[in-house]
Amino acid sequence: MIVHTPSLMLVNIAVTATLGLSLGVVASRARRDGLALWAWAMGTHTLAYILFSLRGQISDVVFVVAATGLLSATIALFTEGLREFQQRRPAYGLSWFPVVLLMVGISALMPAPQARVALSNLILLLQGLAALVLLIQKRHDTIGRGQYFEMAGFAILALVFVLRMVGALATTTDLSSITASNQIQTVTFLLATVALVLVGIGLVIMTKERADAQNLNMALHDALTGLSNRRLIVETLTQNLAQAQRSGRALTLLMIDIDFFKRVNDTFGHQSGDLALRGLADCIRGRLRAQDMAGRWGGEEFLVVLPDTDAQGAGTLAEQLRRTVEQARFEATDGRTMQFTISIGLHALQAMAAESIDDMVAAADKAMYQAKQNGRNRVESL
Ligand code: GH3
Ligand code: MG
Ligand code: MG
Repeated sequence: MIVHTPSLMLVNIAVTATLGLSLGVVASRARRDGLALWAWAMGTHTLAYILFSLRGQISDVVFVVAATGLLSATIALFTEGLREFQQRRPAYGLSWFPVVLLMVGISALMPAPQARVALSNLILLLQGLAALVLLIQKRHDTIGRGQYFEMAGFAILALVFVLRMVGALATTTDLSSITASNQIQTVTFLLATVALVLVGIGLVIMTKERADAQNLNMALHDALTGLSNRRLIVETLTQNLAQAQRSGRALTLLMIDIDFFKRVNDTFGHQSGDLALRGLADCIRGRLRAQDMAGRWGGEEFLVVLPDTDAQGAGTLAEQLRRTVEQARFEATDGRTMQFTISIGLHALQAMAAESIDDMVAAADKAMYQAKQNGRNRVESL
């Protein structure tokens, strides 16, 4: 089936202009998540197609060089947007060199239309493949499924460029008359439109999926220490308790409180107190196994959940942690050295008792107060 090429181009212009405007409206340069560059990319693509559809009405050289250059710039902008989204450093040279090369190359090949089409599609293909490589390299670090729309879009574009390159080299179809209607043109413009819709939707989904993940992470973690916040700790503890009660496996809690922390604040200032809290969080993190979880329970109180750990094992860990903190030195904002100790309350789930989360936390808390009463810088169990 052969479809009227100018009509297909018009559809493509309408689609990319809409996508570009939509991306532009939600993009913010300050966020540096790629959206602004992607909006520009849709814009240059729209412009390229407007130039293509004006073929014959403006000078041939200007038309070919400018329109094909704009197409190449589209991929360069997409690639830079992708680098920005992936928090890579910009690679302007790498992204824009093909654009210059393509414009110089096709200017030189003006008298040879088929060679010109082959060269421009070869360069566009390499650009598209480079974007695909960027996506594939970071697939494990990228959250969600939007990236697969993106990969599909670039793969389809690569296919289109291969088709046109082969078409120019191996068939007699004149692909340099861009508005001509033939089978290769029909496939080109249909697939290009599909690819751009996939790319546009993929970008929005990718950005949204990442923002959602970041928001969820913020909602469940303590901003100062990066540890789980109380909500996440309760959620985890609920699961661990149900599992331990079902399986009869051990579960132990540690309640940790800094000794005389008010003095740390009074001596070094509240900001240094915050640094001390971060330092303690690092000490705790450094001691835990993968299945353990530590969270900030209150101001300077931390709760550690130790699944599959009995009182004895947890006691050893608590003692190691107590000693680590005792020996640690933390730097205050003014460079002075801060030092403090911690008191730890330990409570292991009783095999036969039907304890609730509140019971367990209350027992660990009580043990911690006992440690305070017995002189601080110690571990007590209950
Ligand atoms: P104790 O040995 O009995 O625990 O003595 P303490 O001084 O540590 O007493 P308490 O646990 O009651 O003190 C809590 C102090 O922790 C009070 C508050 O100034 C400080 N604090 C709580 N949250 C923060 C925080 O986010 N940053 C800083 N810098 N200080 C905090
Ligand atoms: Mg305290
Ligand atoms: Mg306290």
